[in-house]
Amino acid sequence: MREHSEIQREIESLRKQLEQHNYNYYVLDKPEITDGEYDVLMKSLKALEAEYPELDSPLSPTKRVGGEVLAGFTKIIHDTPLLSLDNAFNAEDLRAFDKRVKKEVSGPVSYVVEFKIDGLTVALKYVNSTLVTGATRGNGIEGEEVTHNIKTIKSIPMKLNSDLPVDLVVRGEVFMPKSGFQKLNETQTLLGKEAFANPRNAAAGSLRQLDSKIAAARPLDIFVFEVIASSENLALASHFESFEQLKAMGFKMVTPVKFDDMESVIQYCDKMIDERHQLSYEIDGLVVKVDDFEQRRHLGVTVKSPKWAIAYKFPAELAETVINEIRVQVGRTGVLTPLAEFNPVKVAGSVISRATLHNKAYIAEKDIRVGDTVYIQKAGDVIPAVVSVKLDRRPDDTKAYAFPSQCPICETAVIQIEGESAVRCPNAECPAKIKRKLTHFVSRSAMNIDGVGESVIDLLIENDLIETIPDIYCLDQKRAALVAIERLGEKSVENMLAAIEQSKQNDLYRLIHGLGIPLIGEKAAKSLAQYFGSLEELLKADFETLTHISDFGDKMANSLLSTLSNSEFRNQIERLRALGVDLKSEQRIDQEGVFAGKTVVVTGTMQKYTRDEIKGIIESQGGKASGSVSKKTDIVVAGENAGSKAEKAKSLGIRIISETEFDAILKAL
Ligand SMILES: [Zn+2]
Repeated sequence: MREHSEIQREIESLRKQLEQHNYNYYVLDKPEITDGEYDVLMKSLKALEAEYPELDSPLSPTKRVGGEVLAGFTKIIHDTPLLSLDNAFNAEDLRAFDKRVKKEVSGPVSYVVEFKIDGLTVALKYVNSTLVTGATRGNGIEGEEVTHNIKTIKSIPMKLNSDLPVDLVVRGEVFMPKSGFQKLNETQTLLGKEAFANPRNAAAGSLRQLDSKIAAARPLDIFVFEVIASSENLALASHFESFEQLKAMGFKMVTPVKFDDMESVIQYCDKMIDERHQLSYEIDGLVVKVDDFEQRRHLGVTVKSPKWAIAYKFPAELAETVINEIRVQVGRTGVLTPLAEFNPVKVAGSVISRATLHNKAYIAEKDIRVGDTVYIQKAGDVIPAVVSVKLDRRPDDTKAYAFPSQCPICETAVIQIEGESAVRCPNAECPAKIKRKLTHFVSRSAMNIDGVGESVIDLLIENDLIETIPDIYCLDQKRAALVAIERLGEKSVENMLAAIEQSKQNDLYRLIHGLGIPLIGEKAAKSLAQYFGSLEELLKADFETLTHISDFGDKMANSLLSTLSNSEFRNQIERLRALGVDLKSEQRIDQEGVFAGKTVVVTGTMQKYTRDEIKGIIESQGGKASGSVSKKTDIVVAGENAGSKAEKAKSLGIRIISETEFDAILKAL
């Protein structure tokens, strides 16, 4: 047996390494190890914490994956109120602010300007350099404790990087990057759920969840931008100085820009109206603050807001246009999405001529019609949407829009599942679905088949050369027909066939992703490929096994299993395998689970479990349940009257645990 202190050192070292890698990845954006190497460290730590529950800690990096579920939210009274800011809407407002400041303060004034991140304000409290609570701003006086979700945001340090023990409260903005927001909404739509209107709603909705697994699965991030309260050993003289200190402690920050006069601030604000669209996250304005803390104290606060800061809000990004047509698209899963087509307008820095109308209910609720003058907004600066109708400009001859009752492509009657906003084409052979399915299969993030894009798929379907995914791998038998297609030259046919052949060497995850199983995106496909290692093993998956894959929820498991049990899907897989598409995953990692790779013997009478239940649990945790004790045995679970097997284990120096300890290990999972 190893010394307890030695194990503790190992656990602490693993935690430190993992937090450093989190910092490199999530704050600096400079990972130093691969995801696989990170997983190995995480797995080792998880196993040790499970084996030694007394050494576990709520601050361990293993707790960042979520799992804690609250019964309800607890209110938190902020030690220092989180004030709101006065708003400025134009240059005049900013000049007036400058005048008010100069009236109170003598000497030169420097301003710092920061992005006003469009997210949810939180206060993070550290005692002794350790995160103790995270709370929403609420009404500024009282917020809600969301520590369980805050911990899942990996760019937030659990422990500050500081030589002195520091007590600190910082204010930050939790947000969702544009790319993550887009992906989240795609998933929501696939699930038939309401899409989030903008990244701010998505961030707020994710943080205010009782189940931290939900927050952990959402791409949340944070920027910290202000010290609200600090212990005296942190002597800070200016905002700029505090910025450097916070950054050194491990917080993720945006570098503030410093100006010596208000006219330069105004120029910068003007410039950012357009340039903000190049950022990977949303900002809805800029915050202008007096830099010097002494000057700030002198200026003081009103009941509502500090007198030393003001929020400059960007003008709204709306454009007016006339709808020429409403079109309905059919997606890969059969969901019908209505789009408005209109005269091109410039909004949020780009010219657009179509915008989403979300779904059937949205059109009905706003009574949006062809011929209407409407406002277009680049909601969340990502997806342009029609937000409202100018009814006073409606021509006399418009008619209420009738949402199609048939699929616009295959004319099958559409269905709408109760409680879902999505209307779907149920026809499995709908050409629109088939085309999108095939296009997805060959796409870069899936099988990555070069030279076969959407237009080639169109040609192949038109010429009756493909209809299903396996047909792609029969194309080499149809060379003559391919070369005969006018728009495909002999050379491009050869390249295409070579790329198809090449794809048989792909990693398994590309195939899983390419098959377009509902709810199974690229990330989930990678987890599955790593866990199962081969198509053959994947086909044997059951619910119990799937629950052991990290970040793999019940809904995903159900979706995968119902797809796998579909005979058509299975035929497709069998055809693919027969055609030589039987992919493996190189990166297979050992199956997780506390008993992974261990041989466990159960003996004696148990109180809580039957013998079979215990065996089932051991196997489900990656272990092997064995009937007899030998040198190969790693652990013996001994109930009452354990008798000779326990004796033998003792003589062989094998670790013996009681039913209670076994139970504790499971609870720690
Ligand atoms: Zn259809």
